[in-house]
Amino acid sequence: MHEFANNMAIPKKKLLLINPLNSSTKGLIIHKQVIYPPLGLGIIATLTPDNWEVELLDENFDEFEYRKADLVALTALTSSVTRAYEIAATYREKGIPTVLGGIHASMMPEEAKNLVDTVVIGEVESVWKSLIEDFEKGELKKQYMGKLLSMENAVRPTRSLFHKDYNFASVQTTRGCPMSCDFCSVHTFNGNCYRLRPIDEVLDELETIEHNMVYFVDDNLIGYGKKSQQRAIELFKGIIDRGIKIEWFCSASMNFADNEEVLEYASKSGCRMVLLGIESERIDQLQDMNKKLNAKMGIDSYDKVFSTIHKYGIAVLGAFIYGLPTDTPETMAARTEYINNASIDAVQATILTPLPGTGLFNRMIEDNKITLNNYPEDWQHYHFGKVVFKHELMDHDTISNEIALNWDKLYNENTLKKKFIRTLKQTKSPIAGIWSYGSNLQYYNLVFEHDDSRPHLDLVDIFGLKEIGENPFIKQQ
Ligand code: SF4
Repeated sequence: MHEFANNMAIPKKKLLLINPLNSSTKGLIIHKQVIYPPLGLGIIATLTPDNWEVELLDENFDEFEYRKADLVALTALTSSVTRAYEIAATYREKGIPTVLGGIHASMMPEEAKNLVDTVVIGEVESVWKSLIEDFEKGELKKQYMGKLLSMENAVRPTRSLFHKDYNFASVQTTRGCPMSCDFCSVHTFNGNCYRLRPIDEVLDELETIEHNMVYFVDDNLIGYGKKSQQRAIELFKGIIDRGIKIEWFCSASMNFADNEEVLEYASKSGCRMVLLGIESERIDQLQDMNKKLNAKMGIDSYDKVFSTIHKYGIAVLGAFIYGLPTDTPETMAARTEYINNASIDAVQATILTPLPGTGLFNRMIEDNKITLNNYPEDWQHYHFGKVVFKHELMDHDTISNEIALNWDKLYNENTLKKKFIRTLKQTKSPIAGIWSYGSNLQYYNLVFEHDDSRPHLDLVDIFGLKEIGENPFIKQQ
């Protein structure tokens, strides 16, 4: 009897991981081309012991349907947290404990504690194992406070969990940012210290990845200063030396072009596009938002930055903000003109959004400037496509209408076609052209989501790009 009991298989507990989707941002993923797997949930899966079965419900791909579980863990940005709370409520009604982590819950833990059973504040790696142990003992706590660990021996995500139709794999090589831009909460969440993963560990992980398109999710892959540049060069050389065949995309600061050796090896190792946080073409606004590096470099140097990057076959995805405190209809029109005339290949034009954990949010709350503040419902509007605050110089209709006019000028089909041709000429790289064009189409689909006069566009719709050859955004069946 005793032996029989020992041999009986103990049923595994089930952990359901959920990646919630804000339905207002569906335009971004309508063709599922430029979206990235939820790395944090993949890391949780790796950290979960073997006596658990782990499943992922990813709303980027899966329609939500109730699935049985012993424990449910969700991650959320501010814009998707309303949806996360909605899903959590479904499970809590049935008595299934829910855990919420990610940047929003870390910035608003008191709110989250009212709506889920357990909140993970900060990075999850240092706390997940004890959270599971506590659950198994029936002693799940209300909150777990993650530490900022060194990036040595960083936990790799369980990639087999991610949906097979993600075109890009996401990989992280650094965490943290030494800058403190007023609108950004990265430095609050990941800390001001720029933590680096050992190069060999990154390369080992890259060798295990089946995708040939990679998004380095670091906030700044190149970092700041000569030491960081050397580290970037070492990483890129490592990709080349190990024969890792990937095409990749990353975010970086305006110092990306400071050292051409960085660009040379970035390009040789597969870099085809870089997102640069440009934000505004006006020095006073850059100073106001504490965007120190850009303000120090000065707008006049930007064209040189773009052309140097292009020389190495890399496209520039420029991120800009509309609705800054000193913006007027005229300054926003001037921003659009600047973007359309500068050699920027793809554009991310978002509306200033006060995210929890930022100086901007704290100030707007204090000054009673936020208009969409019926939380948690209103977080769903914090997707950078809606004005959620009272602007000093423009009333709500003026700012909203003016931004819509600017989007039209930035993303209309003619502009996008012209940009595509220009990118091909400037980078001489069809992949850089297609990637930047694909990004523009995603933003087009997002900003015109509710405009019935505009069809959703796919890469093949305008140029019949399938004809050109391999289209990295169209997954081969
Ligand atoms: S916007 Fe970029 S540079 Fe500024 S604090 Fe955030 S991550 Fe750092």
